[in-house]
Amino acid sequence: MHPAPIWVGTSWKMNKGPAAAIEAARALAAFTPPEGVTPFVVPPFTSLKDVCAILHDTPVLTGAQNTHWEDAGAWTGEISPAMLAECGADLVEIGHSERRAHFGETDWTVNLKVHAVLRHGMRPLVCIGDSAQEHDFGVTRDVLARQIRIALHGVSPARMARVLVAYEPIWAIGTGGRAAEAGFVADIHASLRAVLVQIAGEQAGRNVPLLYGGSVTRDNARTYTRLENIDGVFVGRAAWNVTDFVQLIRSVA
Ligand code: PEP
Repeated sequence: MHPAPIWVGTSWKMNKGPAAAIEAARALAAFTPPEGVTPFVVPPFTSLKDVCAILHDTPVLTGAQNTHWEDAGAWTGEISPAMLAECGADLVEIGHSERRAHFGETDWTVNLKVHAVLRHGMRPLVCIGDSAQEHDFGVTRDVLARQIRIALHGVSPARMARVLVAYEPIWAIGTGGRAAEAGFVADIHASLRAVLVQIAGEQAGRNVPLLYGGSVTRDNARTYTRLENIDGVFVGRAAWNVTDFVQLIRSVA
């Protein structure tokens, strides 16, 4: 059994302009999640402040999809962690494979961002994942251990209490039907847990929620969350529609 709560989140990625995001947030504000489940949504920057305001004082948390590591300065086009905190963000997604593949995100910038988010009292949601090739060559565990060790380098055990980690195999994202097999994910999470315990000590390492992401749907979500060391799911496409997201949240309770 894993400790409560079960985390169920969705990133809207580059979807939903302000009007659609506000409508979705209002629908979510009217929803009471089952006990023991912590839902969160991660809207685009353009609606973060509105979504935070609507979901404030509800059980649904709100996150941002990225951050810079500096608080302010000449960084054209970037958004700082101070700005996200001022908007009311609870958590910040860091290191998604799309950012690593298309926008030059590295393990080193992920580490800078993790510290920046923690400095501002928010939760970093650190995304790690293996490519299809790394998976085929059997180096998934090594790749993930390296990613997590660099991402969390220098984080104190006390601050570790605010860290979330999402294992998102790149080969399982956006496939529709080809999610990673639940037993495989549970094994990978057990090895991630061991790395976390090495990094942060027994108690802090055991308490970091480990989420799985990659073609999760309301039909398979519970298959993951009932397993040890899978503390939640992080969902894309199958949760962009609020009704689907609500059903997915209910399915894990
Ligand atoms: C993702 O992109 O992080 C993701 C999990 O997407 P999907 O659920 O659509 O595979």
